[in-house]
Formats: sequence, C-alpha cells, structure tokens
Amino acid sequence: MTSYDYDLFVIGAGSGGVRAARMSASHGAKVAIAEEYRFGGTCVIRGCVPKKLFVYAGRFAGEFEDAAGFGWQMEGLKFDWSTLVANKDKEIGRLEGLYQSTLKNADVVSFHERAELVDAHTVRLVTSDKTVTAKTILIATGGHPFMPDIPGTQHAITSNEAFHLETLPKRIVIVGAGYIAVEFASIFNGLGSQVTQLYRGEQILRGFDDDMREGLAEEMGKRGVNIHLGAQVNEITPLGEAYSLKLSNGETLETDLVMYATGRVPNTSGLGLIAAGVETGKHGEVMVDEFSKTSVDNIYAVGDVTNRVALTPVAIREGAAFAESVFNNTPTKVDYNCIPTAVFSEPEIGTVGLTETQAREKYGDIHIYKSLFRPMKYTLSGREEKMIMKLIVDATSNRVIGCHILGSDAGEIAQSIAIAMRMGATKADFDATMALHPSAGEELVTMNQIWQGE
Ligand code: FAD
Ligand code: NDP
Repeated sequence: MTSYDYDLFVIGAGSGGVRAARMSASHGAKVAIAEEYRFGGTCVIRGCVPKKLFVYAGRFAGEFEDAAGFGWQMEGLKFDWSTLVANKDKEIGRLEGLYQSTLKNADVVSFHERAELVDAHTVRLVTSDKTVTAKTILIATGGHPFMPDIPGTQHAITSNEAFHLETLPKRIVIVGAGYIAVEFASIFNGLGSQVTQLYRGEQILRGFDDDMREGLAEEMGKRGVNIHLGAQVNEITPLGEAYSLKLSNGETLETDLVMYATGRVPNTSGLGLIAAGVETGKHGEVMVDEFSKTSVDNIYAVGDVTNRVALTPVAIREGAAFAESVFNNTPTKVDYNCIPTAVFSEPEIGTVGLTETQAREKYGDIHIYKSLFRPMKYTLSGREEKMIMKLIVDATSNRVIGCHILGSDAGEIAQSIAIAMRMGATKADFDATMALHPSAGEELVTMNQIWQGE
C-alpha cells in the first residue's frame, strides 16, 4: 500500500479550506494546509468582515442626520479615515490569529506559503521548494478581482486596495453594479466621498428582483450616489493628481480614484491543474460533481474556486460536506435551496428564493404581495425613504417561493424567513403567524391583498 505524508492536503486557508481541514482532522485524518497570503482568506482579510466594518462606519452618517428629528444636536462631527483603517486592521489581525490557533488546536499542520500541484498526489511548497504527498487533496484557493482589459486600468484599484487606502478619496468612480460595487458606493458615500457608480447595463444588480433594483437605485440616488447607467469606461488617463475617464457614450468624467468591482475569477492559474489532470471550465473554475469531487478521483474543490455560489456560508458548507463525505463515511451534498443573501448597501437588500421574473418562468401562476411604506423611524427624522417588502407565492401550492426586502435590517429579516421558506411555509402560515409590533418585519405577516399593480 502507498503511504503518503498526509491523509489530506488543503490548498488555501479561507472559509472553505479551514472548515474542511478542521473537520477532517476531527474525524481522525492527518491534515496539512497551505496559505500563500493571510490565514482566514477573502472573507476575513479583505471581504465580508472588513467590508461590514466599513458599512457600519458609513451608516453613522445617516444615523446622525436622522438623530436631529429626535432632538439630538451634534456639532463638530468629524470623520477620521485613518482611525477606521487602523481599528479595522487590528480586528482583522485578531481574527487571523484565531484562524491560525484554531488550525493548530485541531492538529492541522500549517504552511505559510504558496502550494502548487505536481501530480495527483504531490504538492510543491513554492517558497521552501519542498514536496509533500497526500492521499486526498482539496483545492480551496478562492478567487481574485477581475478587471476588463482597457487602457489605464493600472491606475484603478479593486476592493483589495480599497481596504488600505491612505486617504479617503474626495471623488470616486466605482465601475460595476454587483454586490461589491453597490456596497462600496454606499460605504464611500456614507463616509463623505462624492460617488459616481458607473454601470454598462440598464439597472444595477442584475439578477436581483426588479423592485429591489429600482427601489435601491432610487434610494441610493436620494442619499447622494450618482448612478450613471448605460456606459462603460473606454480609457483612464492620469490628469495631475486626478484621472480622466473616457466613456463609451462620448462623455468624460474626472475623478480622484477609480475602483473596479467587475466580478471575480477563480484562483487556478499556475496551480498545476493540468499536470494533475484536473479539468477546468471556461472561466478557469475547477469543475466538480455534487460531492465537490473533481475529474481526478482523489482531488476535490470547494468554495469560490468552483464558481458555484460565491458566498462564505456556502464555501463553509461545501468544506464541511467534503469532510463528512470523505473522512466520516457519510456522503453529504450541499443543499443550495433558499440561500439567503444580503447586499449591505444603504438601504440594505435582504433576499431569499426566486425573483418575480424567475418565479413566473418556473411556476407561471404566481401571486405577488407587496408593501411599500415609510419606516416609523423616518416619521420623526424626516427622511423620505421607503421600505419595500415583497412576497412571491406559488398560486397552486400557496408556498412562499420568494421574499425580497429593501430597508434597514433587511438581511437580518431574510435570514429568519429563509428557515420558514426552506421548511415549505405557505402564505397561510405567514398569515397565521402573530405580528411583532411595532416592527418593520410585521409587514411580512400582515400583507393580505394580492398586488394588482400601482
Ligand atoms: P477564500 O476565502 O478566497 O480563500 C482562499 C485562500 O486561498 C486565500 O486565502 C488565498 O490567499 C489562498 N490561496 C490561493 N491560491 C493559493 C495557493 N496556490 N497556495 C496557497 N494558498 C492559496 N460573502 C458573503 O457571504 N457575505 C459577504 O458579505 C461577502 N462580502 C464580500 C466582500 C468582498 C469585498 C469580497 C471580495 C467578497 C465577499 N464575499 C462575501 C464573498 C466571500 O468572501 C467568498 O465567497 C469566500 O471568502 C470564499 O471562500 P473560499 O474558501 O472559497 O476562498
Ligand atoms: P458580481 O458578479 O456580483 O458583479 C459584477 C459586476 O461587474 C456586474 O455589475 C457586471 O455587470 C459588471 N461587469 C462584469 N464584467 C464587466 C466588464 N467587462 N465591464 C463592465 N462591467 C462589468 O461581482 P462582484 O465583484 O460585485 O462580487 C463577486 C461575488 O462576491 C458576488 O457575486 C458575491 O457572490 C460575492 N459577494 C457577496 C457579498 C454579500 O454577500 N453581501 C458582498 C460582496 C461580494 P453585468 O451584470 O452587466 O454582467
């Protein structure tokens, strides 16, 4: 029988890799993990966590404005970017340390360097130029920001750099209109930058429910974000300390900073996948089956590198399911139904299940319940902002198949609704649930009129 250095070698210590390593070790496997940058991966180091800390920072601006109507007078308010960045860095450092100690406590051997495949059972540790062998290999290398190939993008930043800027830009143009672009547009707007969000399409957040897209664009506009639709950047040229952007519609924009948030691509280049015989798809993603197994029997892949659903809880579940399947004799598939998700914009979107368009396509006969209202808090603050709640119901089974919320705490609400929807809750179940008063969430159990249009 062949003997290997490890039962499992994990490449990448992000959300998916760390969970898989820890759980596999807890099932008795001898495990090693390699990380080329910082332990914790995208979510902890330059994704969800620092992003949410910045979101909190940006939201104080609106809170201070709203406070006035409640009698608070605030003078001399100032924001200091370097304090935010330093405090964020300290917290990220603390979390990184926790990830390292968690791995150590689980008896996982950590290599702080890049790893590449030599063949299906051999990994090369690049800095130390050492090879190790493993019976099973897990690729959990995540992804990195994508920028289109146009002249001048070397002057632009991505979300990676946005977390470490030396100063807060006075003016910023953010290209793209997915999660990252929209979230950072709200963050920089809240912190006081003049924000232009530039998107090639007709409306931000393609793929989200249309009411959320239109509602959010309107409210972000009211809060000061200049959303510029139907245009792309053709060229970026330096203009003294600033930049000039030539747009596809003939316009020119001037700005102090350009940020691209135009999607992410899997980290597979130079990884030795061809040498190991691992098949990739057209975006470079590792192709896997429903047990996260690649085209090579002993090599698996989880998380963003597989380009399935690029969210942290999904990467973690995939890592856990891998460990259960391979090291605990319990074949486990991830259930991708009813994944709740939030866009931490200002206001926020929380969503679970199908959009109205998807529901019509899949079910045909659906009922829409919709509530647009001014949250109680804004009656005194004077803010002209509407909250939107929307339920999509399959007319035949009466099951709630989509829930979309725009407004404060939308993500928090969506998380709870996801439990009910996953259990197959019907509109009648929602109606039979007692309201919690006074709250915004109570709208979800008191909507009794099918929406007939404006
Ligand atoms: P990662 O966490 O990316 O980990 C991969 C690790 O592998 C990295 O640490 C990398 O350095 C390492 N690596 C790569 N190649 C090698 C190699 N050859 N050798 C050694 N190490 C290697 N998701 C949410 O659910 N909620 C959010 O609010 C959210 N916000 C986000 C905000 C931003 C700005 C970004 C960029 C992403 C956000 N995401 C969010 C997505 C989330 O971060 C990812 O889905 C998640 O981190 C994926 O985990 P992973 O384990 O697949 O990969
Ligand atoms: P997304 O895929 O969400 O959005 C990419 C955006 O860039 C889209 O608006 C897209 O437009 C646009 N775009 C793509 N290519 C080009 C191009 N060549 N020129 C101009 N525009 C272009 O990616 P993000 O980078 O925002 O985020 C990556 C992933 O990370 C998300 O999909 C999500 O899974 C995860 N994430 C989750 C968060 C959360 O849970 N809150 C927060 C941040 C990230 P079009 O729609 O027209 O293709």
